[in-house]
Amino acid sequence: QKKRKGKGESKAKMEKPQLYPQPLRSFHELADRHALASRIAINIRDHGYNTPTEVQMVALPLLMGRPDSYLPAATDADAQQTLIAGGADLLSVAPTGSGKTLAFMIPLISKIVQEKSEDEKTAPVTSAIVLAPTKELTSQIVNEGRKLANGTRIRITQLRKGMRLPFAETDLASGDTEQPAVKADIIVSTPGLLYSMLDDEENAKKTSLHGVRYLVLDEADVLLDPLFRDQTLRVWNRLSDPGLRVSLWSATMGSNIEELARSAIQARRQRLSAQHGD
Ligand code: ADP
Ligand code: MG
Repeated sequence: QKKRKGKGESKAKMEKPQLYPQPLRSFHELADRHALASRIAINIRDHGYNTPTEVQMVALPLLMGRPDSYLPAATDADAQQTLIAGGADLLSVAPTGSGKTLAFMIPLISKIVQEKSEDEKTAPVTSAIVLAPTKELTSQIVNEGRKLANGTRIRITQLRKGMRLPFAETDLASGDTEQPAVKADIIVSTPGLLYSMLDDEENAKKTSLHGVRYLVLDEADVLLDPLFRDQTLRVWNRLSDPGLRVSLWSATMGSNIEELARSAIQARRQRLSAQHGD
């Protein structure tokens, strides 16, 4: 953590409450401070992860939420609430090999485990979509995620051609199912494949992505470059949950990624409020 202490900085300014939770010093703190399910804690340990990497130290407390007891007093009540809920949108820039996959998979799995145990009987509805630019990356993410989710009821699926997306409730009720739909808590896909499924009119009508509350863009600089941008934004715009939380992960800050992310979040909010406001 870089601390900027300007020469002329006043005492009052230095004491200004910070909005970021303290960095995570060990994975044990996930259980103690963030109510991480013990099964996931065991999986982290069993796979030989001892010390969080830098990006994990900073991103995990932000995304896990529940930092109740150690959150520094913030002046802004809204910001406090967001941090307690782990509800911030996040753009994270960290070098290749720094462990970004774990940094987004642990909070996803943890939150979905918590949300599920509150209502065990509900059928699995897709809660999260993870996009990455290549098929190879999506399978790496699925492998890493399954290690972490081992022994939990969280299902993680790599989307493939020919699979069907989750049906809308009405179609389930009418038994209109030639092929079983993907039943996964977390779907991992390239934007092109998911977009082509949504783009198919028949599919689009039947598909329900209403339950999706988390969107992860891995290699976000690539997903938002001109080659992938349209497909990525099309998928993003199909997610209708007003509380959708987006996290973007990148090794570089290229291609105006922050600006694009902000305007995508903004545009989507405006569109949703227009829809709900008529
Ligand atoms: P990135 O996406 O930032 O390029 P990855 O998520 O692919 O990096 O992780 C790179 C490697 O580091 C993987 O083999 C992963 O298993 C390993 N790794 C991640 N976090 C840790 C950790 N806390 N301790 C040790 N190894 C880790
Ligand atoms: Mg990566």
